[in-house]
Amino acid sequence: MAGRIPRHFIDDLIQRVDIVDVIDARVPLKKAGKEYTACCPFHNEKTPSFTVSPAKQFYHCFGCGAHGTAVGFLMEYENLSFPEAVEALADQAGIPVPRETGDGASAFQQKQDTASLAQALTESDRYFREQLRKASAGEAVEYLKNRGLDGKTAADFSLGYAPPGWDNLLKHLGTTPQKREALVKSGMLIEKDNGDFYDRFRHRIMFPIHNYRGQLVAFGGRTLGDDKAKYLNSPETPLFHKGRDLYGLYIGRNDIKEAGHAVIVEGYMDVVSLAQFGVRYAVATLGTATTQQQLERLFRFTDEIVFCFDGDNAGRKAAWRGLENALPALKGTRQIRFLFMPEGEDPDTLVRKEGADGFEARLRKAESLGDFLLGNLSKQVDMTRLDEKVRLAEMARPHIEKIPDGALKNMLLDQLYKLSGQDISGLAAKPVADANRRGRDAAANPSPAAQGAKSKIARALGFLLQNPQLASIPEDIEFLSDLPVPGAQLLHDVLQLVRDQPTIHTGAILEHFHGTRDYKALSSLVAWQHYLSENDVNTEFQAVLDDLDKQRRRIHIQQLLDKAQSSRLTPDEQRLLNQLLTVEK
Ligand SMILES: [Zn+2]
Repeated sequence: MAGRIPRHFIDDLIQRVDIVDVIDARVPLKKAGKEYTACCPFHNEKTPSFTVSPAKQFYHCFGCGAHGTAVGFLMEYENLSFPEAVEALADQAGIPVPRETGDGASAFQQKQDTASLAQALTESDRYFREQLRKASAGEAVEYLKNRGLDGKTAADFSLGYAPPGWDNLLKHLGTTPQKREALVKSGMLIEKDNGDFYDRFRHRIMFPIHNYRGQLVAFGGRTLGDDKAKYLNSPETPLFHKGRDLYGLYIGRNDIKEAGHAVIVEGYMDVVSLAQFGVRYAVATLGTATTQQQLERLFRFTDEIVFCFDGDNAGRKAAWRGLENALPALKGTRQIRFLFMPEGEDPDTLVRKEGADGFEARLRKAESLGDFLLGNLSKQVDMTRLDEKVRLAEMARPHIEKIPDGALKNMLLDQLYKLSGQDISGLAAKPVADANRRGRDAAANPSPAAQGAKSKIARALGFLLQNPQLASIPEDIEFLSDLPVPGAQLLHDVLQLVRDQPTIHTGAILEHFHGTRDYKALSSLVAWQHYLSENDVNTEFQAVLDDLDKQRRRIHIQQLLDKAQSSRLTPDEQRLLNQLLTVEK
């Protein structure tokens, strides 16, 4: 395993890369005044509301609210983990990534491993495709023909064939110990306890699985024999994560954009058949429920996703799990719908009977999120009774609460109201009510930066993050570190960081706090729009610090007075108390 990337390296790297270059290489930016703009890559829009600030090293979309640093952008846009995003940045900047590690597992070694793994997959892919072209593949070709697939579609999806037998691939590719090791690590061979190897995929039609960047990462195999596992996937490897990749996304990405929607189906054969009949915007999950990560990835290409599942119980359960994972992702104009296949059909059989037109006609009638959600829940209650309608509303509440504020959420609340007579919109996006609620929470909850209605200290933090030069204003910051006021410690830490590194920019400050519980709150403070002049910002920032200083004195006075009540103050303490009281007047 790779070791940790040292913190100081990350700090330094983020200070050195320019977010404008990072984003521009992926989403072309236009200069507009001091900032850069583009149409937002995270939601669908015609006029640009996505802005990148070179000064803050931060991006912000006024349309969907997406925001973050260069690292955050890469994580979001390319769906990378934090260390992956750091590596991608370092790659782009041409700097090797050091690893904190004791036993020689260097970044170089890791790269080598990944490369040999990728090569093992590429060679296996070539081998499987050759096998499909051979005369001995008659059975495989016959199977594909029976399923109505033509040679072009088979070629488009690079289908292959793993012949029957335990060591075809092993003999062909596993010619050296290194190669066998790479084949094992990539999931193509299985190593026995006695050190022998055998082919994982035998007597199967092979479906290469690509990640969203078109990199071959795994295989799926459909058995031609009577193997109990009809479908078999590669295991998870450093290249392949079942919950992250989607079968067919890379091939279908442009068709998805063009169609304006994507369909999620259950199997790769469904994806291939649909494509054969002209429905080229389908993707499949890889033997798991649809994850939030997959949905986020797919929403990058379209705002509308249709879950297409079997109409049986298992299919409905899978759709419900998909729904639960999708709710938090439904921001802006995103929506999901549900299409259930008639009994005994799957998308593969249906499209062969009804063609693309028939399939698309069904697609247009797919159930809306509201119909599916509320329809399912109302089946569990007796809708003729008022108390049961209240129960329905209560069952719907946790689901609707997961949807980000916006039109879709309001629509669902309306629909629920019409159905049950229950208004649970207290939790919806009502600006005024919401602000009140937050105000109350803020009083009760000692985490200022996390609150919507900003406390003074959160505002000061926001000013400081957006304009790090403010850190030079206060003379003393030490007192903040043990001031029992929510947020004071964090304010101290940010001030200290900027004082230690006076040239640090906003994005680098933020990334310094990556992985801490304050990260999210700090990040939304950077995106916060306050519309104050520089002068007003300086004045308010200073006022907050003065105020905190006053609080410190009051607390100190109170402590001394408390002590005086129960015991005697030392002469030093007495002097200090007098001093504090004088200043206080
Ligand atoms: Zn946006």
